[in-house]
Amino acid sequence: MDSGDPFSLDEPMKTPSVRKSGMATSRWRGAVFLDRDQTLNIDHGYTHLVDDFAWMPGAPEALAQFHRHGISCFIVTNQGGIGRQFYTDAQMQEFNDHLMAQTVLAGGHIQDITHCPHHPEAPTPAMQTPCECRKPAPGMLLELAGKWNVDLTESVMIGDRESDVIAGRAAGCHAYLFDGSDLSGLARQVIDRHFTGSHGGDNV
Ligand SMILES: [Mg+2]
Ligand SMILES: [Zn+2]
Repeated sequence: MDSGDPFSLDEPMKTPSVRKSGMATSRWRGAVFLDRDQTLNIDHGYTHLVDDFAWMPGAPEALAQFHRHGISCFIVTNQGGIGRQFYTDAQMQEFNDHLMAQTVLAGGHIQDITHCPHHPEAPTPAMQTPCECRKPAPGMLLELAGKWNVDLTESVMIGDRESDVIAGRAAGCHAYLFDGSDLSGLARQVIDRHFTGSHGGDNV
């Protein structure tokens, strides 16, 4: 037995979803919200075909790093191409499934993906903006935070556009603009600044 264990054992066991009369009582924690196109995968313009999938530089390593640190990752993505009828919701799902599978192969995990199908030039009124979800609006982050007990003030949004940063800040998160060069370098910075302290003991 190691008597120098710095962690006290009287802390309650972490039970992910203890339910009391239907209410989740799991602790609210920070998370990372990621834009999809040109942040995780290269954007060819309304990217939706699995054959067109390719990682942005450092993206698989970044996802693996977040996972190693126990940080939940979510994708929040504007998919106005659905509203414009350039591709279907099912095609986007297929692309997202592929992205999630590739993430697992890279040693990462994406907890959930939310998309906004709306667009100013959508031919049908129901698919037109304004809506609460299209970034720079914070709707997608707020939705995921409620669904997964995410503490937005402890969370970080990362994306390649100013609208990603604005959405993140509007949701109360820290936000970083990704310049496209190396997502794993940015991930390391984000982990050091926002997650290492609160995870006491992590020093990977
Ligand atoms: Mg983008
Ligand atoms: Zn929307």
